Amino acid sequence: MIDSTKYQGQRRRLVKLLKEKGIQDKGVLDAMGRVPRHCFMDPGLEGYSYVDKAYPIAANQTISQPYTVAFQTQLMELKKGDCVLEIGTGSGYQTAVLLAIEGVKVYTIERQLELFKKTAMLFKKMRLNPKKVIFGDGYKGFPEKAPFDAIIVTAGAPKVPIPLMEQLAIGGRLVIPLGEEKQIMTRYVKTAQKAYDRQSFGTFKFVPLLKDKN
Ligand code: SAH
Repeated sequence: MIDSTKYQGQRRRLVKLLKEKGIQDKGVLDAMGRVPRHCFMDPGLEGYSYVDKAYPIAANQTISQPYTVAFQTQLMELKKGDCVLEIGTGSGYQTAVLLAIEGVKVYTIERQLELFKKTAMLFKKMRLNPKKVIFGDGYKGFPEKAPFDAIIVTAGAPKVPIPLMEQLAIGGRLVIPLGEEKQIMTRYVKTAQKAYDRQSFGTFKFVPLLKDKN
């Protein structure tokens, strides 16, 4: 996976744009500046890697817009040692941004076999080391490794999956776009067993979180 001065320049401009759009967290901006998004794009679309838009990937899904990735990551308020669960591995771009934040451990779940296989292989090739790439249903979370300090959902959910709330540590953050056609970015902070603070952060557009086929 080669980087180039052209891509590095484009990435610097993207980071500048993200700042102008209101991203302030230095750790997040650094991560956005380091992750080579062109490695996660579908062939033929690489030239658009540093345009602030979502693009199609395999299985009718999308690689998230850089602003959305930065915005959700900022809302997770990550710190060294945090253990994180991502629902919707997709291209692996958001996973790579989480891994670029110092001292963060990442588990990631993908529902579609084609993407799961493809992206798990890409991580190996790029020597990226999430703790585990899981083929499964994100509605159920990953109870084996709960509780998590932060959980991010990268697809639109009609309502909050209860297992994800339960799998948060006290003080843990769940960042989830809620809604059908459009979604409201929502953050739950677990303040005590079964007690949550909820805040909303504007409208976004995601592909839907897929229901279990059973
Ligand atoms: N984070 C990704 C976004 C991909 S789009 C990126 O940066 O590229 C959302 C992803 O969620 C898709 O790959 C889709 O297959 C996956 N997904 C949808 N429903 C799911 C579910 N129930 N469990 C796990 N993954 C799911």
